Amino acid sequence: MNAPTSAKVLAPTVKLLINGQMVESKTTQWRDVVNPATQEVLARVPFATPDEVNAAVANAKQAFKTWKKTPIGARARIFLKLQQLIRENMKELAALLTAEQGKTLPDAEGDVFRGLEVVEHAASIGNLQLGELANNVANGVDTYTLNQPLGVCAGITPFNFPAMIPLWMFPMAIATGNTFILKPSEQDPIVTMRLAELALEAGVPPGVLNVIHGGEDVVNAICDHPDIKAISFVGSTKVGTHVYNRASLNGKRVQCMMGAKNHAIVMPDANKEQSLNALLGAAFGAAGQRCMAVSVAVLVGEARNWIPDLVAKSKTLKVNGGTEPGTDVGPLVSCAALSRVEGLIERGLADGATLELDGRKPEVAGYAKGNFVGPTIFSGVKPGMSIYEQEVFGPVLCLVAAEDIDQAIEFINANPNGNGTAIFTQSGAAARKFQEEIDVGQVGINVPIPVPVPLFSFTGSRASKLGDLGPYGKQVVMFYTQTKTITARWFDDSTTSHGVNTTISLK
Ligand code: NAD
Repeated sequence: MNAPTSAKVLAPTVKLLINGQMVESKTTQWRDVVNPATQEVLARVPFATPDEVNAAVANAKQAFKTWKKTPIGARARIFLKLQQLIRENMKELAALLTAEQGKTLPDAEGDVFRGLEVVEHAASIGNLQLGELANNVANGVDTYTLNQPLGVCAGITPFNFPAMIPLWMFPMAIATGNTFILKPSEQDPIVTMRLAELALEAGVPPGVLNVIHGGEDVVNAICDHPDIKAISFVGSTKVGTHVYNRASLNGKRVQCMMGAKNHAIVMPDANKEQSLNALLGAAFGAAGQRCMAVSVAVLVGEARNWIPDLVAKSKTLKVNGGTEPGTDVGPLVSCAALSRVEGLIERGLADGATLELDGRKPEVAGYAKGNFVGPTIFSGVKPGMSIYEQEVFGPVLCLVAAEDIDQAIEFINANPNGNGTAIFTQSGAAARKFQEEIDVGQVGINVPIPVPVPLFSFTGSRASKLGDLGPYGKQVVMFYTQTKTITARWFDDSTTSHGVNTTISLK
């Protein structure tokens, strides 16, 4: 949030999207969007004023009057077009994403692609937003349901998936007949705005999708606004809990997908090569800045002897700018994130964990100012240590040991988070025991990051989630609609009249 200086005035400004127009904010509060590999200022993002937030909501409310009546096929065709536009612009989207977020170009394409899958899903809304019908529930009486849109809905997104997570939200909200206010992360809003432009090009009408930028004040205004009916939030547990409480008290429907501490069990019968590769990809990919990153590996029995192999493999990973071919680990998103992660590594040492691999201050030629931390591994990690209790959100893998699968499951279930978990094993019996007994919402069996495809819903649980229904899949259709139950009887001349009925039964 810096006052503009003459140097910063040169950086382009990120626009607000209100009523189908990209508009310049009138705010006096701006923040730089910075390339985390070079510290180059890419743009300035506004913190929208209360009037701008109100204008976005008012336009969305007005647009809802006609959008809710738009035939479902017409809504679906917009998302058919949007998926095509995203495919055609994939390279450009990935380049924008890497520049402002830091992840490697192939991973940035993955970020866009996982969002694209939800756009494809939104295009099949005709099959998803079906009601139910029960015929002849009493004499001549039918009961059926309508799944009607709620009105103006809002989405608040984190920095770590600036394409995928906005695409989790607005396509399904709009496809179900709602209008939408999106509040992207102020750290990397550029690729999100490009997606919003493509949505307009695909035919999303004015006012149906609006984008406002900002931080705490704008988020609070969204939580409080009486014309916003539902909020989807993805971000940290602290902010998500605040949003859930504040917006719920204001009578809104809220879903919050929040922080994590994801554990993977490595059984001694696992395919060693494949499992260790999968584990390290999930621990260090995107520099550990994924809500489904594996940050704790529980090594069971003989697998406890695999630490040297894990360290040796980790040393082969290349730390470099995200645009450099062959990069495995790019920079952390900001200087603040860098000092936070470095500080947690310090605390890990102070708390008595064994630093098997220290990734601090790697030399990265050509990127002297980048926010880099290389793969870092601690063994002997215990509950109570900061590196275990906190979500590090950096390339730091904690190793703990367990005698057997029962001990490993007990250990994971004692952790409050429930976003994702995985087991590596060749035993069907061990895998089945794990899927039955583990108290985590998304379970991988020899799959390190079990984020479901959009036919299913994202189902994080316990401290990683507030609200009952997840994003995308069948659950989100319920989230973005109100079920109305109709009980109907049509009289014709053959209907026998039973006179006045003063009981509650349907006769
Ligand atoms: P964050 O909570 O800092 O920010 C998320 C959003 O909240 C942003 O739009 C931000 O502007 C806003 N915000 C920040 N501080 C606020 C405040 N004090 N009051 C109101 N609003 C505020 O999260 P982040 O650092 O951008 O993202 C990383 C976090 O998101 C991690 O904890 C990660 O696990 C989580 N995450 C969860 C999932 C999931 O599906 N469970 C997915 C991705 C990320």
